[in-house]
Amino acid sequence: MQHPRCTSTTHTHPDRVTPAAVRIDTGIFANRFAAQGMSQSQRWAALVEYAVWAAGRSDLLTAIRTELRGRDLVCACPVDDPSCHRNVLADLAHPGREPHSHPAALTVRRPWASMLLIPSSVGGKNVENRTWATDYRGPVLIRGAAGPQTGVDAAGIAMCGRMGFDVPWHSAQKGWLGAAVLTDVHEDAGCCKPWGQTRRHRDQPLYHWVFQSPARLAARTWGAGFEGLHPHPWSVLVNRSALHGQPRAGCVQPPRPLRRLR
Ligand SMILES: [Zn+2]
Ligand SMILES: [Zn+2]
Repeated sequence: MQHPRCTSTTHTHPDRVTPAAVRIDTGIFANRFAAQGMSQSQRWAALVEYAVWAAGRSDLLTAIRTELRGRDLVCACPVDDPSCHRNVLADLAHPGREPHSHPAALTVRRPWASMLLIPSSVGGKNVENRTWATDYRGPVLIRGAAGPQTGVDAAGIAMCGRMGFDVPWHSAQKGWLGAAVLTDVHEDAGCCKPWGQTRRHRDQPLYHWVFQSPARLAARTWGAGFEGLHPHPWSVLVNRSALHGQPRAGCVQPPRPLRRLR
């Protein structure tokens, strides 16, 4: 099957959109969460919200399968704009084979993973602590670690309880849970309380990964484990049964890790 090509109205005049092309900046495929004049971080947030919302819309998923496969996706954004929702639509039309921009993904131990998807306005966790840094900024798909022992962090359970959250529920959240926007990574300087930790060893740096605009899936999905920060397709957020007729997982190239700064 042919991949959908991505074209832009900045290069393709709307009057010359071919019959094989579909406009995605109007109608049912438009990103309802995006608006003119948004900052870059707001555009990332709108993309995350759109992807999570779309994952739970069976009517939209059906329309994507029937109307976008093999078609050119035309939007007013530049073709290589990674914050355009065409990246989501193109991937959902051809899960795992879409050659365009993928978001990063991160496995987080429980219950920290689920707590990252609680909005900070109601006390949710907005900082992830890591001993390494990255220069990646943008959407990050969040996966709760699955291991019955190694996937759970006792300190996270204690913190979850101290903050008044439902410990059993958040501790049970495995698999793909949703997404958030990684906006900053900086070395610990005694900042970002209460979620930013302080380094315990003088020779071991600690970095605060700052997240904003979390969006939680209505129904989490299963995903194989991985370590580090990897690009993953948006389609991991969608239940497999809603993506019937897809190429088998064996067709998908394994992702390469994103660059670690240290
Ligand atoms: Zn666009
Ligand atoms: Zn900090």
